[in-house]
Amino acid sequence: MFIRYAFRQECWHPNLHHATLIIDDPLLRKDYGFLNYEGLLALMDKYDFHTSIAFIPFNYRRNSPGITRMFRERPDRLSICFHGNDHTAAEFASRNAGLLNGMLTVAEERMDVHEKKTRIHCDHVMVFPQGNFSRDAMAALKAHNFSAAVNSDPCPRGENSGFSLLEFIEPAVLKYGEFPLFLRKYPREIELQDIAFNLFFGKPVLIVEHHEIFKDPESLIQLVSRINAFAPEIRWSNVQTAVENSYLRRWTPNGDLQIRAYANAGKVANASENLLRCYVEWPGCREVPVERVLLDGVPWPDARTDDKGIRFCFDLRPGESRRFSVVYQNNFGLSDANCRVQWKVKAFLRRRLSEVRDNYLSKNPHVLSGAKALQRRLFKRSNW
Ligand SMILES: [Zn+2]
Repeated sequence: MFIRYAFRQECWHPNLHHATLIIDDPLLRKDYGFLNYEGLLALMDKYDFHTSIAFIPFNYRRNSPGITRMFRERPDRLSICFHGNDHTAAEFASRNAGLLNGMLTVAEERMDVHEKKTRIHCDHVMVFPQGNFSRDAMAALKAHNFSAAVNSDPCPRGENSGFSLLEFIEPAVLKYGEFPLFLRKYPREIELQDIAFNLFFGKPVLIVEHHEIFKDPESLIQLVSRINAFAPEIRWSNVQTAVENSYLRRWTPNGDLQIRAYANAGKVANASENLLRCYVEWPGCREVPVERVLLDGVPWPDARTDDKGIRFCFDLRPGESRRFSVVYQNNFGLSDANCRVQWKVKAFLRRRLSEVRDNYLSKNPHVLSGAKALQRRLFKRSNW
């Protein structure tokens, strides 16, 4: 803190502070378990927060028109992002690059159909089902030009390699596939010092919950109120906006702006009355090759790529804002193992059983514990 105070302009500073509540799994129907969308919207309007539904692409044809209309009409409060593809227990913990590529291809195709039908954009951010992922999944997401991944656990399945101080304080973890992993926590795990830590180091405040929280949302409301009282400038937004704005910035002695980006895109504005030169860098591009760098969607010719990352610069006129982004090549093979009948049957059964659990059994704790034991026995052997 002292160093940042003493070298105010020359130190890296967070860009904008963002927060998002992420609810895993629900379909977009009137009710899902204890979640009722009208009730949630009323809570968000009253207490001022935003919810992103971590949406399972498998469910792309199974939503209610009334609720998709609500999402369309209230993008300030409601959004969706990717939550796996079929939401099998560990689909993105696979080390098979072809299979990962195949699952992401299907997931994107499903959500393209969903977007055409509902006109709801699905944020290109992956929330891993049950927190399971592999290094290979991070590289595959990068090759599919996802903005970032979000998870509670910072380590891939089966790894616990520890973190250096620098890795710990950066806005996102970059050590797996050089793809940004933003971390989220449950309300019960978030203290005031966690919020302060995130804001100081430019990490978005990402909160994870499931439908059960709405049985008694008091702890969630208390957390939202604490965040808004502590950081009144914080912007509640969809998760893509949150990760894209979580870049670092600093000023050079001659007045140029340097940006260290984590997500694959971001936006910068020039609020001054002078021409502003911006230098943008993305750390790391060894594992997945760069195809091109874009400025407002147009290829930018002078980007430099080497072992340390990608760098390019451009000028902003007074009052102007521009969006920068990077596009990666996808050279992975493609497996269709996830399109075979046996896989599809298991995915279908798993989703239906999970919905019965969330919609009916969760309201009866005794029956729920028996059903969970049965589900474990049914799916344990094949790791589903
Ligand atoms: Zn889930």
